[in-house]
Amino acid sequence: MTDTSLNLVRKIERHRAQEARRNGIRLRVPSGPAVERRDLLRSRGMSDTAIAAACELHQTTVSGIHKRPSLAASTEAAIFSVPVPHEFNPGDAVRVDKTGTTRRLRAMVAAGYSQAFIAERVETDPDVIVRLTREGPHKDKPNRYVTGAMFKAVRAVYDELAFKDPAAFGIAQHEITRSINRSTHLDWAPPHCWDDDTIDDPEAIAEWTGACGSDTGARIHRRDGIPMCQPCHEALLAYRREENERRAARRGAA
Ligand SMILES: [Zn+2]
Repeated sequence: MTDTSLNLVRKIERHRAQEARRNGIRLRVPSGPAVERRDLLRSRGMSDTAIAAACELHQTTVSGIHKRPSLAASTEAAIFSVPVPHEFNPGDAVRVDKTGTTRRLRAMVAAGYSQAFIAERVETDPDVIVRLTREGPHKDKPNRYVTGAMFKAVRAVYDELAFKDPAAFGIAQHEITRSINRSTHLDWAPPHCWDDDTIDDPEAIAEWTGACGSDTGARIHRRDGIPMCQPCHEALLAYRREENERRAARRGAA
Protein backbone atom coordinates (compact mmCIF):
# COMPACT_ATOMS: atom_id res chain seq x y z
CA MET A 1 0.00 0.00 0.00
CA THR A 2 1.42 3.40 -0.91
CA ASP A 3 1.79 6.11 1.69
CA THR A 4 -0.96 8.17 0.15
CA SER A 5 -3.49 5.35 0.11
CA LEU A 6 -2.50 4.40 3.68
CA ASN A 7 -3.14 7.97 4.74
CA LEU A 8 -6.47 7.87 2.94
CA VAL A 9 -7.47 4.68 4.76
CA ARG A 10 -6.51 6.26 8.07
CA LYS A 11 -8.51 9.34 7.21
CA ILE A 12 -11.56 7.25 6.47
CA GLU A 13 -11.07 5.28 9.68
CA ARG A 14 -10.78 8.46 11.68
CA HIS A 15 -13.89 9.79 10.02
CA ARG A 16 -15.76 6.56 10.81
CA ALA A 17 -14.63 6.75 14.43
CA GLN A 18 -15.80 10.36 14.71
CA GLU A 19 -19.15 9.51 13.14
CA ALA A 20 -19.55 6.55 15.49
CA ARG A 21 -18.71 8.70 18.50
CA ARG A 22 -21.28 11.27 17.42
CA ASN A 23 -23.84 8.50 17.24
CA GLY A 24 -22.87 7.18 20.65
CA ILE A 25 -21.25 4.02 19.19
CA ARG A 26 -17.79 3.03 20.39
CA LEU A 27 -15.73 1.38 17.71
CA ARG A 28 -13.74 -1.58 18.89
CA VAL A 29 -10.65 -3.11 17.34
CA PRO A 30 -8.63 -6.26 18.12
CA SER A 31 -6.20 -5.51 20.95
CA GLY A 32 -3.20 -7.35 19.38
CA PRO A 33 -1.54 -4.41 17.58
CA ALA A 34 -1.92 -2.08 20.57
CA VAL A 35 -0.45 -4.72 22.92
CA GLU A 36 2.51 -5.17 20.58
CA ARG A 37 3.07 -1.44 20.41
CA ARG A 38 2.85 -1.07 24.19
CA ASP A 39 5.34 -3.90 24.66
CA LEU A 40 7.73 -2.21 22.23
CA LEU A 41 7.47 1.02 24.25
CA ARG A 42 8.10 -1.00 27.43
CA SER A 43 11.15 -2.65 25.88
CA ARG A 44 12.61 0.79 25.23
CA GLY A 45 12.31 1.55 28.91
CA MET A 46 8.95 3.34 29.16
CA SER A 47 6.88 2.42 32.19
CA ASP A 48 3.11 2.03 31.80
CA THR A 49 2.76 5.26 33.78
CA ALA A 50 5.01 7.09 31.32
CA ILE A 51 3.12 5.66 28.33
CA ALA A 52 -0.21 6.62 29.91
CA ALA A 53 0.99 10.15 30.63
CA ALA A 54 2.22 10.57 27.05
CA CYS A 55 -1.18 9.74 25.54
CA GLU A 56 -3.55 10.86 28.29
CA LEU A 57 -4.85 7.42 29.15
CA HIS A 58 -5.21 5.94 32.59
CA GLN A 59 -2.25 3.81 33.66
CA THR A 60 -4.53 0.83 34.43
CA THR A 61 -5.84 0.99 30.85
CA VAL A 62 -2.30 0.75 29.46
CA SER A 63 -1.39 -2.07 31.87
CA GLY A 64 -4.54 -4.06 31.12
CA ILE A 65 -4.97 -3.94 27.34
CA HIS A 66 -3.72 -7.50 26.85
CA LYS A 67 -6.46 -8.87 29.10
CA ARG A 68 -9.25 -8.40 26.55
CA PRO A 69 -9.43 -9.46 22.92
CA SER A 70 -10.60 -6.02 21.81
CA LEU A 71 -10.35 -2.39 22.85
CA ALA A 72 -11.77 0.98 21.89
CA ALA A 73 -10.36 2.30 18.61
CA SER A 74 -9.61 5.58 20.38
CA THR A 75 -7.43 3.73 22.95
CA GLU A 76 -5.49 2.06 20.16
CA ALA A 77 -5.03 5.42 18.43
CA ALA A 78 -3.81 6.95 21.70
CA ILE A 79 -1.18 4.24 22.25
CA PHE A 80 0.05 4.52 18.67
CA SER A 81 0.41 8.28 19.11
CA VAL A 82 3.26 7.75 21.64
CA PRO A 83 6.62 8.09 19.87
CA VAL A 84 8.90 5.05 20.24
CA PRO A 85 12.15 6.11 21.98
CA HIS A 86 15.18 5.64 19.73
CA GLU A 87 17.22 3.80 22.35
CA PHE A 88 16.48 1.98 25.58
CA ASN A 89 16.20 4.78 28.12
CA PRO A 90 14.59 3.63 31.34
CA GLY A 91 13.45 6.03 34.03
CA ASP A 92 15.78 6.17 37.04
CA ALA A 93 13.51 4.11 39.27
CA VAL A 94 12.40 1.55 36.66
CA ARG A 95 13.54 -2.04 37.25
CA VAL A 96 15.79 -3.21 34.44
CA ASP A 97 17.01 -6.76 33.78
CA LYS A 98 20.60 -6.65 34.91
CA THR A 99 22.04 -8.95 32.23
CA GLY A 100 23.47 -6.09 30.18
CA THR A 101 24.85 -4.30 33.23
CA THR A 102 26.72 -7.41 34.41
CA ARG A 103 28.07 -8.05 30.91
CA ARG A 104 29.32 -4.47 30.57
CA LEU A 105 31.03 -4.58 33.97
CA ARG A 106 32.69 -7.91 33.19
CA ALA A 107 33.76 -6.69 29.77
CA MET A 108 35.39 -3.61 31.33
CA VAL A 109 37.32 -5.81 33.77
CA ALA A 110 38.34 -8.00 30.81
CA ALA A 111 39.57 -4.85 29.08
CA GLY A 112 41.83 -4.15 32.07
CA TYR A 113 39.82 -1.82 34.31
CA SER A 114 39.70 -2.63 38.00
CA GLN A 115 36.33 -2.76 39.74
CA ALA A 116 37.46 0.02 42.08
CA PHE A 117 38.20 2.25 39.11
CA ILE A 118 34.85 1.41 37.47
CA ALA A 119 33.05 2.16 40.76
CA GLU A 120 34.68 5.58 40.86
CA ARG A 121 33.50 6.36 37.31
CA VAL A 122 29.98 5.04 37.98
CA GLU A 123 30.02 7.05 41.22
CA THR A 124 28.96 4.19 43.42
CA ASP A 125 30.33 1.99 46.16
CA PRO A 126 32.94 -0.59 44.99
CA ASP A 127 30.93 -3.31 46.78
CA VAL A 128 27.96 -2.60 44.51
CA ILE A 129 30.12 -3.04 41.42
CA VAL A 130 31.72 -6.20 42.81
CA ARG A 131 28.29 -7.69 43.51
CA LEU A 132 26.85 -6.76 40.11
CA THR A 133 29.91 -8.11 38.32
CA ARG A 134 30.02 -11.37 40.20
CA GLU A 135 26.39 -12.40 40.00
CA GLY A 136 25.65 -14.04 36.70
CA PRO A 137 22.57 -13.16 34.70
CA HIS A 138 20.57 -16.03 36.17
CA LYS A 139 16.96 -15.79 35.19
CA ASP A 140 15.65 -17.79 38.11
CA LYS A 141 17.63 -16.12 40.86
CA PRO A 142 16.30 -13.21 42.88
CA ASN A 143 17.88 -9.80 42.57
CA ARG A 144 17.99 -9.98 38.80
CA TYR A 145 17.22 -6.33 38.35
CA VAL A 146 19.08 -3.06 38.59
CA THR A 147 17.56 0.38 38.72
CA GLY A 148 17.29 2.35 35.50
CA ALA A 149 19.71 4.86 37.05
CA MET A 150 22.37 2.14 37.58
CA PHE A 151 21.77 0.70 34.11
CA LYS A 152 22.30 4.10 32.48
CA ALA A 153 25.33 4.97 34.60
CA VAL A 154 27.11 1.69 33.79
CA ARG A 155 26.22 1.97 30.09
CA ALA A 156 27.59 5.52 29.91
CA VAL A 157 30.88 4.49 31.56
CA TYR A 158 31.13 1.41 29.32
CA ASP A 159 30.55 3.50 26.19
CA GLU A 160 33.35 5.77 27.30
CA LEU A 161 35.93 3.21 28.49
CA ALA A 162 35.37 -0.14 26.84
CA PHE A 163 37.43 0.37 23.70
CA LYS A 164 40.14 2.57 25.17
CA ASP A 165 43.47 1.65 26.71
CA PRO A 166 43.16 1.63 30.53
CA ALA A 167 46.73 2.97 30.72
CA ALA A 168 45.43 6.22 29.21
CA PHE A 169 43.45 6.70 32.45
CA GLY A 170 46.53 6.33 34.63
CA ILE A 171 45.92 2.72 35.64
CA ALA A 172 49.19 0.90 36.41
CA GLN A 173 50.23 -1.93 34.09
CA HIS A 174 50.28 -4.52 36.88
CA GLU A 175 46.68 -3.64 37.77
CA ILE A 176 45.63 -3.90 34.15
CA THR A 177 47.27 -7.32 33.90
CA ARG A 178 45.60 -8.45 37.12
CA SER A 179 42.14 -7.48 35.87
CA ILE A 180 42.68 -9.19 32.52
CA ASN A 181 44.01 -12.38 34.15
CA ARG A 182 41.09 -12.50 36.52
CA SER A 183 38.54 -12.16 33.75
CA THR A 184 40.31 -14.80 31.64
CA HIS A 185 40.16 -17.16 34.58
CA LEU A 186 36.41 -16.50 35.00
CA ASP A 187 35.56 -16.55 31.27
CA TRP A 188 34.36 -12.96 31.28
CA ALA A 189 33.87 -11.80 27.71
CA PRO A 190 35.72 -8.62 26.67
CA PRO A 191 33.97 -5.77 24.80
CA HIS A 192 34.78 -7.05 21.29
CA CYS A 193 32.62 -10.13 21.99
CA TRP A 194 29.50 -7.98 22.26
CA ASP A 195 27.70 -5.50 20.11
CA ASP A 196 25.37 -2.77 21.27
CA ASP A 197 22.33 -4.47 19.74
CA THR A 198 22.70 -7.72 21.66
CA ILE A 199 24.51 -7.00 24.92
CA ASP A 200 21.21 -6.40 26.73
CA ASP A 201 19.47 -9.42 25.22
CA PRO A 202 19.47 -12.25 27.80
CA GLU A 203 19.21 -14.79 24.95
CA ALA A 204 22.34 -13.48 23.20
CA ILE A 205 25.72 -15.10 23.83
CA ALA A 206 29.20 -13.61 23.78
CA GLU A 207 30.72 -13.89 20.32
CA TRP A 208 34.36 -14.98 20.71
CA THR A 209 34.79 -16.67 17.35
CA GLY A 210 32.13 -15.35 14.99
CA ALA A 211 30.42 -18.74 15.22
CA CYS A 212 29.94 -19.30 18.96
CA GLY A 213 27.35 -21.85 20.01
CA SER A 214 28.24 -24.25 17.15
CA ASP A 215 30.86 -26.98 16.62
CA THR A 216 32.50 -24.64 14.08
CA GLY A 217 32.89 -22.09 16.88
CA ALA A 218 34.46 -24.79 19.06
CA ARG A 219 36.99 -25.56 16.33
CA ILE A 220 37.89 -21.86 16.00
CA HIS A 221 38.45 -21.66 19.78
CA ARG A 222 40.90 -24.56 19.45
CA ARG A 223 42.59 -23.26 16.31
CA ASP A 224 43.16 -19.76 17.73
CA GLY A 225 43.88 -20.78 21.31
CA ILE A 226 40.86 -18.91 22.71
CA PRO A 227 39.57 -20.57 25.90
CA MET A 228 36.40 -22.49 25.02
CA CYS A 229 33.19 -20.65 25.90
CA GLN A 230 30.30 -22.52 27.50
CA PRO A 231 27.92 -22.47 24.46
CA CYS A 232 30.72 -23.81 22.22
CA HIS A 233 31.61 -26.45 24.81
CA GLU A 234 27.97 -27.59 24.83
CA ALA A 235 27.77 -27.52 21.03
CA LEU A 236 30.89 -29.67 20.85
CA LEU A 237 29.44 -32.22 23.29
CA ALA A 238 26.20 -32.34 21.27
CA TYR A 239 28.20 -32.78 18.06
CA ARG A 240 30.18 -35.67 19.55
CA ARG A 241 26.99 -37.32 20.81
CA GLU A 242 25.49 -37.12 17.34
CA GLU A 243 28.68 -38.48 15.78
CA ASN A 244 28.57 -41.47 18.14
CA GLU A 245 24.92 -42.09 17.32
CA ARG A 246 25.67 -41.92 13.60
CA ARG A 247 28.52 -44.38 14.02
CA ALA A 248 26.36 -46.73 16.09
CA ALA A 249 23.61 -46.53 13.43
CA ARG A 250 26.15 -47.35 10.71
CA ARG A 251 27.38 -50.34 12.69
CA GLY A 252 23.79 -51.47 13.20
CA ALA A 253 23.11 -51.19 9.47
CA ALA A 254 26.27 -53.10 8.49
ZN1 LIG B 1 32.51 -19.86 21.61
